[in-house]
Amino acid sequence: MSDLADLTITEAGKRLRSGDITSVDLLDAVTRRASVTESHLHAFLTLDGEGARASAERADADLAKGTDHGPLHGIPVALKDNMCTIGVETTASSKILKGWKPPYDGTAVARLKAAGAVITGKTNLDEFAMGSSTENSAFGETRNPWSTDHVPGGSSGGSAAAAAVGSAFGSFGSDTGGSVRQPAALCGVVGMKPTYGLVSRYGLIAFASSLDQIGPFSRSVEDSVALLGATAGWDRYDATSIKGPVPNFGGSLTTGVQGLKIGIVKELMGEGIDPQVLAATIAVADKLTDAGAHVVEISMPSTEYALSAYYLIAPAECSANLARFDGVRFGHRSTVEGTTEDMMAHSRAEGFGPEVVRRILLGTYALSAGYYDAFYGQAQKVRTLVRNDFTSAYAQVDVLISPTSPTTAFRIGERAVDPIAMYYSDVCTIPSNLSGDPAISVPIGLDDEGLPIGFQIMAPALGEEVMYQVAAAVERLVEFDQRPALATSEVAPV
Ligand code: GLN
Repeated sequence: MSDLADLTITEAGKRLRSGDITSVDLLDAVTRRASVTESHLHAFLTLDGEGARASAERADADLAKGTDHGPLHGIPVALKDNMCTIGVETTASSKILKGWKPPYDGTAVARLKAAGAVITGKTNLDEFAMGSSTENSAFGETRNPWSTDHVPGGSSGGSAAAAAVGSAFGSFGSDTGGSVRQPAALCGVVGMKPTYGLVSRYGLIAFASSLDQIGPFSRSVEDSVALLGATAGWDRYDATSIKGPVPNFGGSLTTGVQGLKIGIVKELMGEGIDPQVLAATIAVADKLTDAGAHVVEISMPSTEYALSAYYLIAPAECSANLARFDGVRFGHRSTVEGTTEDMMAHSRAEGFGPEVVRRILLGTYALSAGYYDAFYGQAQKVRTLVRNDFTSAYAQVDVLISPTSPTTAFRIGERAVDPIAMYYSDVCTIPSNLSGDPAISVPIGLDDEGLPIGFQIMAPALGEEVMYQVAAAVERLVEFDQRPALATSEVAPV
């Protein structure tokens, strides 16, 4: 490919180190790409041209001196706008945080900077990461680079679209119920959710703290390993962060699947899954068998209740987390006159969008005296059953597979009026959030409308190495090398 913006991180890194190109060249390439694609996609809320240029120049100067910070050195990456970046506006796509510039970097952000990555900007999301389409952004939706009539998925739709179209070499999102994997599937890129506790949540604007994890988007499995590697590891600022050495995620990328036991989740291969998605998933399972894996069907009966449990647990936690947005300490403050309580009520009513209000109400209700046991308590019990299903599955197989999303990208507006249809988008991804285990989506082809299909690989806690091993094998077996039409410099700005 002729355009630098289309290189993988690994390829760009090689050329940087050979002295053939500079980090500033890479930044110029993604900036040029964004200048063409942004008017079609709206993947970014903020582009930090000046800050990015300064870090690209620093990366080049460091490399010239022989200081190499590793695989992300000099690589332009984009961050979901719920990741706190010092001095750069961070809104979580909410009016309530419009104009807020965090006084600190989140741990993942600080680690990316220390790894030499060039942060180019902040990407669009569903408000406070609540949604599956990026239509819930207070600042306008993001569109799918494969077809701008379609959603990119969500909530990390901006990051997925940017990685897919080449306005970033890689990007980060947060995955509470599928918000990295589902948009990755819908945009034809690799997206992964790490084991809960592997990447620090410090400086990630909290949605549902027992589920939230930051994870990377990339155009190759190898790049995903590099992006995860730069952010993973214990952090004293996150009490749920895992202590101990960081596993060698990329150690088995070239091993193949010979002799591995792979379970295909029965409950995620039937009703509600689009026939084309189903057929593509089965075709890949067959290729894995041909490559020497033992693929067996595994039943996970509690999966059926996972979605309902999630939509009680996540809103319950969000109702507590979002209590801090009261117009006092940061963000929007109403100018309506009255008592302090009036000010807080009006600030919240004016600042939060309809989906966020719905979640806060649902969560408050589920936690209220008299209903707590019936809703929140019951959901926690289901969470335990889901975990138990995974434990018994992983006693039999090394990894589990399923579609990532029940359908390919849907049309803008199609599910916006029907929250239940929207919530169903996460039926395949939510179980791994409830169990806290890692999972990845890899693109495996296009449907007959030319929209990408994603394939999910789930692994036991801290099983990122075997998860990536299978993901890399799938990548080689399917050789998905198509790019969205918008990822060419010839497309004229609208
Ligand atoms: N779509 C799910 C929700 O709306 C998941 C969101 C996420 O993972 N942040 O809650």
